[in-house]
Amino acid sequence: MEECLFCKIVKKEIPAEIVYQDEQVVVFPDINPKKRVHFLIVPSLHIKSFLDLKDKQFEMLTKMAKVIQSLIKENNLESGYQLLFNGGVHQHVPHLHWHLLGD
Ligand code: AMP
Ligand code: ZN
Repeated sequence: MEECLFCKIVKKEIPAEIVYQDEQVVVFPDINPKKRVHFLIVPSLHIKSFLDLKDKQFEMLTKMAKVIQSLIKENNLESGYQLLFNGGVHQHVPHLHWHLLGD
């Protein structure tokens, strides 16, 4: 998956302002933010899209959700946030990512 943009960010081959990283999950700001706060929550593992998630990978999705709960609290977004997966024609980077947008 050498061509994958988000794999390159995970491996630090392309710079990004990493705000959280562990073995399973990486978080960095969207380069073209749609709201005051716009983070991308990305699995370290290359999974193409939401529909490509396999049964055993849903544990990792739970981990991502817990990271997002912390991000919402740390960034004081409790009063207004959105979580989004794009798919099909709406997904431009073919590596699963969760958008967290906040006012
Ligand atoms: P999607 O349309 O759901 O695939 O969203 C891909 C997102 O990745 C877009 O909101 C882009 O602005 C964002 N993006 C593209 N390249 C980078 C990058 N190098 N660093 C951070 N975000 C990026
Ligand atoms: Zn990838």
